[in-house]
Amino acid sequence: MNELPLPEPLVQRLKNIYRALEEDYDEVARQLQFSCSGCPDNCCDSYFLHYTYVEWAYLWQGLRELPPVRQKNILDRAGEVVRVCREELAHGRRPVVMCPLNENGLCVLYPYRLLVCRTHGVPAVMTLPDGRRLSFPGCYRCQEVVRGRENDAGVPFVDRTKLLQLLVMLESELLQGLHSPRPRIRMTIAEMLVKGPPTLT
Ligand code: SF4
Ligand code: SF4
Repeated sequence: MNELPLPEPLVQRLKNIYRALEEDYDEVARQLQFSCSGCPDNCCDSYFLHYTYVEWAYLWQGLRELPPVRQKNILDRAGEVVRVCREELAHGRRPVVMCPLNENGLCVLYPYRLLVCRTHGVPAVMTLPDGRRLSFPGCYRCQEVVRGRENDAGVPFVDRTKLLQLLVMLESELLQGLHSPRPRIRMTIAEMLVKGPPTLT
C-alpha cells in the first residue's frame, strides 16, 4: 500500500506548533518552579492515545533515521507493548507499560515525540469548538506544587486551544484530496509503530 506523503512545508508547520507548545509549557513550568528533574516516575509508561495522521507520519520519519537493527528492536518491543496493553484492557485495567521508544529512561526519538509527550505535566485548558472548556490538572507532582499555591491569585496554566486548532488544520490539509476519507484514529505510539506508517488507503 502506498504511504501517505508528508510534505516538507507541513513538517515545518508541525515543528512550529511543537516549538510553541514547548515554549508555553516552559513558561508555566518556570512560573510554578516545576520540573521533571528528580521525579521517581516516568510518564513514558502512561497509557496515552494519539489522534492525528500528521504526527503518526512524522514519528515514522524519525524512526527511519535510526539504523535498521535499532528500528527492528523498537518494532519488536512495540509488538510486545501492543500485546500487553490489549491484555490489560481486556481485564478492565488501564495499562502501565513503558513506551517502546524509551531506552534507559530516555526517548530515542525525542525530536519526533508526539504532542502529548510535550504537554503532559503542567496544568492546561482547552476550549472545544462547541465552547466546552476542558481542564487538565497536570501530573500528580505538579498538582502537589499547585496545591501549595492554592491561596495565590491565579495558578498559571497553558491554553492549548489555538495550537491544537493549528494542528487540526494541518491534519485536514494532509488528508484533503485523498480518494477515500481516512477513518479517525485513536492509537498508542506502540500501535503507530506496529501498524507501519500511515497509508493512502
Ligand atoms: S510530568 Fe510529572 S510525573 Fe511525569 S516525569 Fe515529569 S514530574 Fe514526573
Ligand atoms: S515517544 Fe518518547 S517521550 Fe513519548 S512516551 Fe515514547 S519515549 Fe516517552
